[in-house]
Amino acid sequence: MRILISNDDGVTAPGLAALHAALADYAQCTVIAPDQDKSGAGSSLTLDRPLHPQTLANGFISLNGTPTDCVHLGLNGLLAHTPDMVVSGINLGANLGDDVLYSGTVAAALEGRFLGGTSLAFSLVSRQPDNLPTAAHIARRLVQAQARLELPPRTVLNINIPNLPLEHIRGIQLTRLGHRARAAAPTKVVNPRGKEGYWIAVAGDAEDGGPGTDFHAVMQGYVSITPLQLDRTFNDAFERFEGWLEGVL
Ligand code: MN
Repeated sequence: MRILISNDDGVTAPGLAALHAALADYAQCTVIAPDQDKSGAGSSLTLDRPLHPQTLANGFISLNGTPTDCVHLGLNGLLAHTPDMVVSGINLGANLGDDVLYSGTVAAALEGRFLGGTSLAFSLVSRQPDNLPTAAHIARRLVQAQARLELPPRTVLNINIPNLPLEHIRGIQLTRLGHRARAAAPTKVVNPRGKEGYWIAVAGDAEDGGPGTDFHAVMQGYVSITPLQLDRTFNDAFERFEGWLEGVL
């Protein structure tokens, strides 16, 4: 088993080291990660400049690009052997509901959709690293269990881990994505030279976070696993178009 590990918090992030340590004796692991924090990069590719991989002292490969760039190179020529799956994280901070649109952690796993094994994205519901050992233990168990799981191609698992010591984790729930309310307005700032700018505000609270959602599971102390697919076609909307196309052209 060959695993490509990436993240969006950057190559020096503690969650990346914790994930690598948890998987290093289970599989042949290669780490390719952004050289800086790329949280919020989503599935973006860098097209306006070349990417320069740099192998660090610990063997991790640092790249001046996005999480998607990292996995894209890892699957397309940078490595001597194609990985079997991508494991991303462990992100410090939740990736729940609408977050999957913006998350580089989830994007890295999605970029692994062409591989044989289902790729996994791990996030700890905390900005602090205190419970990373919990998340790393659960990540290892789920990566091992993934070998017994058969899912259609182009499926990834988005996994969120509550910010709790392992003994307080109540179990694992299979969930759907909830939804967040709109984020607060960006905060206006002025730099020392008088130039105005804006900080994007934190994500909105859960608006659809009831039982069955990823939000609810982690609030109740359960690990949340949401299977994601790339196909975002709104199949149920087709009937609304009946007759509408006639007369448009
Ligand atoms: Mn992040």
